[in-house]
This record gives sequence, structure tokens and C-alpha cells, in this order.
Amino acid sequence: MKLEIEKLQNQTFSKIQTVKSLEELQTLYYSVLGRKGELAYLLSKLPNLPANERAGLGTLANQTKDKLQQAFDQARAKFQNQNFNQTDFDPTWPGILPEIGHAHPVSAFLENAIKFFSSLGYNLAESPEVETSNYNFDLLNIPPNHPSRDLWDTYYVKNSGTSVLLRTHTSPVQIRYMEEHKPPVYIIAPGRTYRHESTDAGHETTFTQIEVLAIDKNIHLTDLIGTLNAFFQDVFGKVKTRVRPHFYPFVEPGLDIDMSCLLCNGNGCPVCKHSGWLEMLGAGMVHPKVLKNMKVDPDKYSGFAFGIGVERMVMLLYGITDIRLFLSGDLRFLQQFS
Ligand SMILES: [Zn+2]
Repeated sequence: MKLEIEKLQNQTFSKIQTVKSLEELQTLYYSVLGRKGELAYLLSKLPNLPANERAGLGTLANQTKDKLQQAFDQARAKFQNQNFNQTDFDPTWPGILPEIGHAHPVSAFLENAIKFFSSLGYNLAESPEVETSNYNFDLLNIPPNHPSRDLWDTYYVKNSGTSVLLRTHTSPVQIRYMEEHKPPVYIIAPGRTYRHESTDAGHETTFTQIEVLAIDKNIHLTDLIGTLNAFFQDVFGKVKTRVRPHFYPFVEPGLDIDMSCLLCNGNGCPVCKHSGWLEMLGAGMVHPKVLKNMKVDPDKYSGFAFGIGVERMVMLLYGITDIRLFLSGDLRFLQQFS
């Protein structure tokens, strides 16, 4: 019996050497190692052998099986490699270029804005998108039931009443940052903000703001206007800026900042409603009450703050007419910014 097993092994080794195709190899494999193959046939006779002959045969059979299996695997790999080399593969064919991504226009704008303000010595800050109404409203001088809360249509978190919400502006970062820092403070804090509004070409429920806050001794309105001027010129080139008084609860005085119309150079056109000016953002000197909420002495320090509506700027920059395109995920839109 031992001799028969060894004979089968040697015969199979030499047969594998002479096999000419993968199919032939497969047939040989089944005839030797298959469920009804020759090895299985030999093993089926084991139980009928006298005990002294049987000893060690099981181990031998297993070793033989392993060795044959290895030989078959090697032969199979050889055939498969050959097949690959015989295909029409032509290494001189041009390859398929992978598609290369690029920054979303909003991300690209943020990157440039961060670079600009960093060059003026501002630090990057951030705060949570899910906020408490305390940080989003109260500490920014917008008490409960104050009519100015109507300025911000708010998403409240379910079952939290009016205490937990999606921040309606990036301004809560002012309070949170000042909890851990003392003036002088110069920060820029970009991030997502949320408003509960119906969407149209000019309105979106989710958008991006950049909060800018400077608190130091001797900060004046002229510093605010100068900073904004420099920023607008960095983004849009040669433009002029003008300010108009406007009420915002967390600043005093509060301002609306206009920029000379990019399309008509200030001569008047339909986009600027023939005024020559485009309304850009709200700004102002930090309200003394807000300074106190930040534990900053309003008699020693003053500051300015403004919030940049990023999508609005990018729309002006590229002539985009619908704010909803930014989050549409539409590649035809996005690919134009590569
Ligand atoms: Zn115009």
C-alpha cells in the first residue's frame, strides 16, 4: 500500500511536467486528487488492511496530498502567467488618466481669506455648529423675546425647546474664544451656519460665514473700515467701500458695508439696482454689553467685528446667479472651478 501511494505521487509529478494546457492540468487534478480520484480510491482500501500495515499510512497519504496540491498550484500559476503574456496587451497604449479633484469654490475662498487675515496677524478659531441659545443670542445682547431675534430664523434641536439650536451665525465664537483668551485678540473664524428659511436663488438654509473679531486698546471705526477695504481689494481688486449705519444688537455703532459695483464700476446697472453700490456685509464696534459678557473692560478696550457671507462673495466673484448650486453636488457646476 505504501508503495502504491509513492508510485501515484511519482507518476503524477511526471505527468504534471508533460501537461500542455490548463484544461489538461485540471483533468489530471480531478483524476488524482478529486473526490473520486486515485488517492481517494487508495485511501478507501485502508480500513480493510490489517492493523500492522495500516500504521503510518494515513500520515503518508496526507503528506502526499499536500505535495501534489503544491505541484498542481505551481503548474496552474505557470499556465496563468503564460496566458497573460499571450494576450494583446500593448504596453505602449496611452493609459486612462485618473480624474483629479480640486477645491470647492467656497473652500478655495476660505483658504485665501485665512491667508489674508493671517498675514495681518489674525489667529484661526472655531466653535460648535450646534449651539445653545445662550451663546447664539443672549450673550450677544439678543435677549429672549427681543424682536431682533426675528432677524434670524432658527433651527431648534427637537425636544430642547429654545435652548439648543443650529448656530444662525458664526458670532458665538466671539464669546467662546474670549472665555479662554484675554485681549489683545485678533481672530478669524470660518464655518457653516444655518437658517430656517425657504430657499431660492438668493437664500439657502446652510451657508458659510467668516467671523472676524479684533479687540485691543485704541481700536477705532477707521480700523474696521481700513481692514475691510484691504480685504475687499485683496478679493476683488480695485474697489471702493462705503458705510451706512445699521442696527445689529451686538455692535454699537452698527454698520452695513457697501462695495462699489464690480459690473458697472459704480456707474449703475441692474445688478446694483442702478445705485453703483453692492451691499456686502454687516459690521460694527463690539457692543459694550457684549464686551462685558466677554469679561473685557469696555473702558480699557474696544473692538470691531464683522461677518463675511462667503457664498455671496463667491457669487459676485464668479458671476454665479444661484446660491443653491454650492451644495447641489452638481459636477457640471463644480468642474468649472478647476
Ligand atoms: Zn452695477
